[in-house]
Amino acid sequence: MRNSTSSSKMKGLLVLSALFVAVFGKVTFEGDQVLRITAKDGEQISLLKELNEPMLGLDFWMEPVHESLPVDVRVPFHSLQAVRAFLAYNQIQYNVMIENVQDLVDEEQLQMLKYRTFPRSTDDFVYTTYHDLNSIYSFTDMLVAENSNLVSKIVIGQSYESRPLNVLKFSTGANRPGIWIDTGIHSREWITQASGIWFAKKIVTDYGRDPVLTDILNNYDIFLEIVTNPDGYAYTHSNDRMWRKTRKPNPGSSCVGVDPNRNWETGFGGPGSSNDPCSQTYHGPSAHSEPEIKAIVDFVKSHSNLKAFVSIHSYSQMLMYPYGFTVNPAKDQAELHELARTAITELKSLYNTAYTFGNMITTIYQADGVTADWTYEQGIKYSYTFELRDTGHYGFLLPADQILPTAEETWLALMAIMEHTKNNPY
Ligand SMILES: [Zn+2]
Repeated sequence: MRNSTSSSKMKGLLVLSALFVAVFGKVTFEGDQVLRITAKDGEQISLLKELNEPMLGLDFWMEPVHESLPVDVRVPFHSLQAVRAFLAYNQIQYNVMIENVQDLVDEEQLQMLKYRTFPRSTDDFVYTTYHDLNSIYSFTDMLVAENSNLVSKIVIGQSYESRPLNVLKFSTGANRPGIWIDTGIHSREWITQASGIWFAKKIVTDYGRDPVLTDILNNYDIFLEIVTNPDGYAYTHSNDRMWRKTRKPNPGSSCVGVDPNRNWETGFGGPGSSNDPCSQTYHGPSAHSEPEIKAIVDFVKSHSNLKAFVSIHSYSQMLMYPYGFTVNPAKDQAELHELARTAITELKSLYNTAYTFGNMITTIYQADGVTADWTYEQGIKYSYTFELRDTGHYGFLLPADQILPTAEETWLALMAIMEHTKNNPY
């Protein structure tokens, strides 16, 4: 009796998941696990790099780089046995970080469905759930319509799939220096776009009320690109929740996309990036080959007066400044370091969330062709990169109930950076 019940239940589940694939054509992550692997030395790191083999289909959330850092990897169900055997044989330690990836994806989908509304204003908008691209587009249009004296939308270019690259400009006067913030350059880092939406609403709410922000906006423009990789973001909703890169095909390869945070000119093509189009850190055929990056490059050059540039990622809880491509210290290292300390102290004051900070190459690892190195080399002193929550419990699948606290605490750090920028003109 028990057997037949559970087997028919099992059958039902199988039919259900088969239907799910058939109807939505989405990649499923049923039975996939995320393992947190702790390598004890360089030899084990080299062994882990061998796992990066197309047949296994592994998706590194944290790449094997150095034994001081954990390696997080999503292992498809069909490769679990092989990978576990490999780790056991080589006596490499690991634990299961996510038991079944699809469970978290399902939960996220249900939560989104539950809060699926058609808000008539940004006051009705639900900030505590994740949103698809169209919903974010309509949010930005509403925000501009409601606050046309303060916010405008500028289109800095088009994505590979011809989507507009929208930037919100918050401005109270002409010819001001600018502060740039971008979220979502890696499309699967959903907490970042969700935080970006909240920042936009926070700015219009606080202007005229919060004296510090008001003072910042009376002297500086703020530019905010919420969906910096729209093709990737649309794809995370339509096909593959775990999509990170752009969506431009690579000639001669069946693998699609370039890592937009390895595509910048400074340090382009170095060892902290990959020349394999199938890699999550593929740098692309040439610097600024991706239209999403080229649009920002052109914007930065034509604006020519940006004073701070903050690019927001997840996960790891880190605040980093240049460089990623060299161990040589940036000439402003001391100041950037102190400001990072102030920013993460502010951030921590709200919910006690602990961040690490420092220059990128020592805080995380060598990364070549990254945003902050390029912007710093353009003369934008206050160039920073955030990695938001968490430190590897949910990883990219941060539950929606953490959107609000994450956005709120991050905002305190952003305010610290913007205020320092305003108080230290250069
Ligand atoms: Zn990222």
